[in-house]
Amino acid sequence: RKKIRRISTGVRSLDELLGGGIETRAVTEVVGEFGSGKTQLCHQLAVMVQLPEERGGLGAKAIYIDTENTFRPERIMQMARARGLDPDQALNNIFYARAYSSDHQMILVEHAKSIVKQHNVALIVVDSVIAHFRSEFPGRENLAERQQKLNKHVADLLRLADAYDVAVVITNQVMAQPDVFFGNPLRPAGGNILAHGATYRLWLRKSKENIRIVKIFDSPYHPEGEVSFRITEEGLID
Ligand code: ADP
Ligand code: MG
Repeated sequence: RKKIRRISTGVRSLDELLGGGIETRAVTEVVGEFGSGKTQLCHQLAVMVQLPEERGGLGAKAIYIDTENTFRPERIMQMARARGLDPDQALNNIFYARAYSSDHQMILVEHAKSIVKQHNVALIVVDSVIAHFRSEFPGRENLAERQQKLNKHVADLLRLADAYDVAVVITNQVMAQPDVFFGNPLRPAGGNILAHGATYRLWLRKSKENIRIVKIFDSPYHPEGEVSFRITEEGLID
């Protein structure tokens, strides 16, 4: 296997669960209900990637594709400050783009490739990967077309990650599973496309107050365990 690099999440227990942090040349999917902390984790990673290697980063820049209009520059600056980075510089090191449709989102991945070629980028975030696809292709009659497009999108991202030694992080929504009587009534959206397309899958869920629980699922390489972190002013911490 080609050499991979890792980006610390800033949460020691989560890094340990992941085997050291999120990997380059891989697509890491973050699944969870609204408010579970997916976007907060994406913000934190866009800051963490900028730290020098001895502090868990890759001394590199990030690309942030925002489909739900939930990117908050002030939050990046707050997290950067907490990690001892210059807040304005940290923000400048993030190539930000708002995606207005699924087609636009896919075009932005093409643009991302040219940015990655010219700049020291080690992280690409797509938050969320699924929202436009779900709203543009509702119902059973559109499912096949949706899944075909989504499959291409995720494959494009994985190819980019592998070719340029970049980590890709995508977020995904959960949906109700009405036919389940026992066990988890929720499942990740995107069906088998994301189940097979993502290299690693993290599931976030809310606990008390600012505490969140995260586990790795569907992975033959990782322990089943779960860890918790807190979302604070400073960002995500153990
Ligand atoms: P998701 O993307 O999964 O819907 P978010 O990542 O947006 O969820 O998480 C929202 C949560 O993060 C909220 O519960 C909120 O309390 C917490 N949060 C956001 N900003 C801050 C902050 N500056 N300080 C503390 N908690 C915050
Ligand atoms: Mg979000």
